[in-house]
Amino acid sequence: MSRPFSVAVIGAGPAGLMAAEVLSAGGAQVTVLDRMPSVGRKLLMAGRGGLNLTHSEPFERFMTRYGAAAERLRPVLEAFTPADLIAWANGLGQETFVGSSGRVFPKAMKASPLLRAWLGRLERQGVRFRLRSDWRGWDDDGALRFADETVLADATVLALGGASWPRLGGDGGWVRLLREKGVAVSDLKPANAGFDVAWSAPFRERFAGQPLKNIALRFGSQVVRGEAMVTAYGLEGGVVYAASAALRDALPAVAEIDLRPDRSVEQLAAALARPRGKESLSNFLRKAAKLSPLEINLLREPGPPPADPAGLAERIKSVPLTLTAMQPLARAISTAGGVSFDAVDDGLMLKAVPGTYVVGEMLDWEAPTGGYLLQACFATGAFAARAVLSRRD
Ligand SMILES: Cc1cc2nc3c(=O)[nH]c(=O)nc-3n(C[C@H](O)[C@H](O)[C@H](O)COP(=O)(O)OP(=O)(O)OC[C@H]3O[C@@H](n4cnc5c(N)ncnc54)[C@H](O)[C@@H]3O)c2cc1C
Repeated sequence: MSRPFSVAVIGAGPAGLMAAEVLSAGGAQVTVLDRMPSVGRKLLMAGRGGLNLTHSEPFERFMTRYGAAAERLRPVLEAFTPADLIAWANGLGQETFVGSSGRVFPKAMKASPLLRAWLGRLERQGVRFRLRSDWRGWDDDGALRFADETVLADATVLALGGASWPRLGGDGGWVRLLREKGVAVSDLKPANAGFDVAWSAPFRERFAGQPLKNIALRFGSQVVRGEAMVTAYGLEGGVVYAASAALRDALPAVAEIDLRPDRSVEQLAAALARPRGKESLSNFLRKAAKLSPLEINLLREPGPPPADPAGLAERIKSVPLTLTAMQPLARAISTAGGVSFDAVDDGLMLKAVPGTYVVGEMLDWEAPTGGYLLQACFATGAFAARAVLSRRD
């Protein structure tokens, strides 16, 4: 009898577990190794604020979210589409729904029921788990080196994640290990993180922790609608994350906040043209333009606002904020940079380390929040696993 084909999957996040599922379903003997004492910690954390699995927008629009990596990810995402991801979640007993912004969530909102059902399936398919196994590279014979053992496998899937939230397991320590093997890895950078703004002390003290709702953020040709959160250090939240790649690469960057995206400058100027009398500017803005105390004070942050109605209206439509720095990678939601697509072949196998595949956030792509991150992690995991199986046959 021939020996079963063995695969070591290192990293038990969504990308590694998906690779393990496809590989074990295809008859491989799969061992999943992870340095943490339990699996899927970042996936569980992602479920804390509502697990945004994927997005329901048309596929071509969906693809644009991956920016420069879109064409490299296209075959991967065509082979495991948002519809496939929803069907997969349904198969694990997790019905989904489409939220108002088009984002797709499991009805349970949390990740734990999905992860529990998934682990049950993996166990039934014979996947073995070796936790508390810290991968340290390869020994001279090419065996996988862990803290206190070496492991030999016919193929390896690296699913070690990025370097955000390192207490959940991934710290980017693999960058050095892969570079030593001659693999091109671009520097890891924060993605979907907040930016520093030099707020005045009174503004910071009074408004840190308060949301700016229904705004638009403009930067270059990008206009993003949604929410942001004022923090002690600056600004974070949906609109900031959506523009964060362009902002990060342009720092220091001046972004413009439109506090009333549904009204034109002319409409606002007309509303502000009524006589102010003895009213304070704050009272006047509150009544005439329905601005909140946070919004009124934000208008003042770049300097005193113009007094004339047209100038004031312009300021409401376009508050310039200088973003001086990005929050560190450890505090970001995801990681940009990673293993270059030129360093892997069509099946996501490392050209410099044959038989070793790379999936998930380790690869050099980035995307905004909205379900695009998990979708690409699941899809790359499934894609590399199919490539492993097809090369075995
Ligand atoms: C707060 C938060 C909320 C999020 N919300 C969403 C969301 O709603 N929707 C969405 O699409 N995305 C979300 N994300 C992003 C998403 O969770 C990640 O993109 C995804 O988990 C990355 O999957 P991965 O499998 O590539 O890596 P990870 O999930 O990071 O898994 C990597 C695994 O590798 C292990 N590992 C690392 N190094 C070693 C080593 N040397 N030896 C052994 N094991 C190792 C780690 O312990 C870890 O278990 C969120 C992220 C955060 C932080």
